[in-house]
Amino acid sequence: MTEAQRDTVPLHQRALRQGEHAPREHLPARPLWLCRACGQPWPCGQAKLDLLAEYQGSRVSLCLYLATSLCNAIDDLHRLNSSMTGSTADLFDRFLGWLRACRPSAPAEHAGSAEAKETGQ
Ligand SMILES: [Zn+2]
Repeated sequence: MTEAQRDTVPLHQRALRQGEHAPREHLPARPLWLCRACGQPWPCGQAKLDLLAEYQGSRVSLCLYLATSLCNAIDDLHRLNSSMTGSTADLFDRFLGWLRACRPSAPAEHAGSAEAKETGQ
């Protein structure tokens, strides 16, 4: 890359190429399905938070995205080394199981009535 070409590349793209301190998204690196940013099995904790924010109000879409990712991960990991893939149940828990603990919040009127019962109002 010449000096003239380097000047035309946006700064954030140069930083990514050089591995400098650019913000990195917690996306999966295929075929290993490890997080590109932190190296943890994807979806890592930050990826889960990012997904919940991105798909807020679209829980079915989030489930479909994660289910598709699970299918791709099973294929990729099985091709790499089927003896190291682990069970499909483990992968299911990794990709979709955490959603059970992140149930959508109750509608406001139910939350309000529950709060009223607790305080005796
Ligand atoms: Zn991560």
